[in-house]
Amino acid sequence: MKEKDKIYDFSHLCDSCLHILFERGEIDSLPSENTLERKDYCYNCGQPILSEINEFSHDLDLLESALYNPKLKVVCYTAPSVRVALGDEFGMPVGSFVEGKMVAALKKLGFSAVFDMNTGADFTILEEANEFYERLTKNKNLPMFTSCCPGWVNYAVMMHPELKSHLSTCKSPQQMFGAIINSVYAKASGIDPKDIFVVSIVPCVAKKVENKQAGINSSKGYDVDVAITTREIASLIKSRGIDFANLEEQKFDNFFGTASGAGAIFGNTGGVMEAVLRTVGDRLTNGQCKRLEFNMVRGLDNVRRAEVKFGERTIKLAVVVGLKNVETILAELKADPHKYDFVEVMACDGGCIGGAGQPRPSGMELSEVLKLRSAGLYQGALKRQAKRAHKNSAVMQVYTNYLGDIGSSKAKNLLHRKYN
Ligand code: SF4
Repeated sequence: MKEKDKIYDFSHLCDSCLHILFERGEIDSLPSENTLERKDYCYNCGQPILSEINEFSHDLDLLESALYNPKLKVVCYTAPSVRVALGDEFGMPVGSFVEGKMVAALKKLGFSAVFDMNTGADFTILEEANEFYERLTKNKNLPMFTSCCPGWVNYAVMMHPELKSHLSTCKSPQQMFGAIINSVYAKASGIDPKDIFVVSIVPCVAKKVENKQAGINSSKGYDVDVAITTREIASLIKSRGIDFANLEEQKFDNFFGTASGAGAIFGNTGGVMEAVLRTVGDRLTNGQCKRLEFNMVRGLDNVRRAEVKFGERTIKLAVVVGLKNVETILAELKADPHKYDFVEVMACDGGCIGGAGQPRPSGMELSEVLKLRSAGLYQGALKRQAKRAHKNSAVMQVYTNYLGDIGSSKAKNLLHRKYN
């Protein structure tokens, strides 16, 4: 081990942290063995070296080369929580909803198309709600655990392999949208997927590793060419001299229409649960459930428990942030396997709004930052015309034209995964 490696307790670090240190030149090489199996308590969230992360020059280099390559169509999509954190890097009030300026900046950087990952979240909601409905009605593999946080999925697969059949088989929104772009968008636009360079802009370090994991990829062998964090894209915007705060706002490219308000809240802890409930509740009540807000799953507490009734059916819920807190719920389930029907888990404080790739404003408590970002997301969601994923006509059109029914074999092939 080199002298500088001793700065870190190497044995604590997983693929994400090692990758970060390698990119920063802090270590000379990456271990050859599979660190996902070797490490026992680091799950790719990137949080352990959060304060040390500056930028990942290699990923930015890949992105810049793609942007300068005339043979490639470079498209990106931005995760729900990036738009309430990016402004922090440009002196704007914490929690500012900067969606329009973010799109304008990405266009200036040279992206051919800028899409909203909230649409990817809408696909996730539809598939996950359908999967949950089927498990509920067949009383099979309950509770169902969410699968959109790769930090949590890594933890579950490594530490609790007995949970594999309880994890939703849905890919994360990042992976679903990558698959949709490489298939649906490529076909409709007449472009060979090999000529599309897909970039996800995310709050998350774990998503960098997720792109490379087995069992989640499709079409050209992988769904996403590179994942760039909020801080990384901010550094690129700054390096190009773009005056972010004074940009005229622009709209996302319209190919996938406008995402629903359900997809928009995915960046908050409890957001996935609430979005799924909006769709499942409607189905369980034959379209009679008009309820949109499920305040009992909102908030920043590490563990939240609730029950909600749709018609004759009561659904028992738990929402967890922080991987160590999952153990509380798992202990409860060991004592009573029927205690919960649906459990959402996110690795980072506050959910993705507190991801390891997000800016950390100085001079403010993290809890205050998270409150402001969370409020920004809920306010932004209110502006969406469709409040539920199944009312997003553009997404439903993709099913009609390309995928068949929600949960069809085509949809399963493209949008679901296996756990090895
Ligand atoms: S909570 Fe969000 S940012 Fe954190 S590891 Fe999970 S997906 Fe990534």
